[in-house]
Amino acid sequence: MSQGGIDFERLTSDGIRRLRAYDPGHDLVALRQSFGANVLVELGSNENPYGPSPRARAAVLAALDDIHRYPDPLGGGLKRALAGKHGVSASQILLGNGSHELLMQFAQVFAGLGCSVVASQYGFAVYALAAQAAGADFLAAPAFPQGHAMPRGHDLDAIAAAVTPSTRLVYLANPNNPTGTWFGAHALATLLARVPDDVLVVVDEAYAELADAPDYASALPLLERHPNLIVTRTFSKAYALAGLRVGYAVANPGLIAVMERVRESFNVNALGLAAAEAALGDATHLRSGCAGNSEQRDALGAALRDRGYIVYPSQTNFLLVEFGQDSVALERALVARGAVLRPMAGYGLPECLRITVGHADENARLLRILDEAGDGR
Ligand code: PMP
Repeated sequence: MSQGGIDFERLTSDGIRRLRAYDPGHDLVALRQSFGANVLVELGSNENPYGPSPRARAAVLAALDDIHRYPDPLGGGLKRALAGKHGVSASQILLGNGSHELLMQFAQVFAGLGCSVVASQYGFAVYALAAQAAGADFLAAPAFPQGHAMPRGHDLDAIAAAVTPSTRLVYLANPNNPTGTWFGAHALATLLARVPDDVLVVVDEAYAELADAPDYASALPLLERHPNLIVTRTFSKAYALAGLRVGYAVANPGLIAVMERVRESFNVNALGLAAAEAALGDATHLRSGCAGNSEQRDALGAALRDRGYIVYPSQTNFLLVEFGQDSVALERALVARGAVLRPMAGYGLPECLRITVGHADENARLLRILDEAGDGR
């Protein structure tokens, strides 16, 4: 489209021309204005309702004294804390302005025109964006079918089979957004054994701390054996610091050194660095939030199943729920009553909505609104 006489589309690359911007869901600022922030039930963005550690809040307040200074461009304090936590060296850690930034940059650095990027159908939306923005082809491997123990979850055999000589990157989310599904250590080890060494495998563990199933396993212990493995994590979910935008990757020091070339020098802000380091030191707060989430995830899942809806297995802080053909109308009716969920049509799942697990009060309010909207549609 021509604007002010310039066809900006024509000035972009093919990849950018085909791109659609990431869909962040409803305009929450506008909805809060019309409903009042305390009335709205906001369960669309997988945020943590328990809030961050009080130590993170205190660290942010203390860091305010120095906001006329640039942040530490090396993020040294946070990197050392993360290295200690994961038993790796600080040179294996890359900090990001949220893990989203890093997921985009892996494709920018390692994939491009003529390359392909592989992920699972129903994998996190950013993987396709990252591939296309870099000019690479995006290939979605078929997910597990309905009726499988992990319906619509990642089929790592199908993903390995989709890798071709042009593939540079594979993105896996464990657990995955929006399905909530997960995979175990054996499936990942098998995939890593099948994939050539020069194909980088990114395991996005944004929800890892919230997973407590015995068959869930982080990829971190495999890093030593697989220099082509990258694990990403975030402070947005279990640590409840989504507003401060801090994520990180753990990988081979050589790979991190290459990534450092494109990192904007001050990509993680001073408040984020301070808060994340403090939050990392408060294991008790982390545990209690994760335990609260597990308890509410089970309770909300059971309440939805009782109402006849299909609830997918989840190891995250959200549930993918099948409401049937009416889900588009239902979602509209819910928003009109002040409950914000995430529609899934963009993922090719128009019969589903994704529901963040809130605290007990929020979940009860959601169920009340759902019952009203379900009757009154
Ligand atoms: N990975 C997954 C699977 C996610 O769901 C999200 C956030 N929705 C992210 C990465 C990005 O999170 P952030 O940029 O806040 O670290």
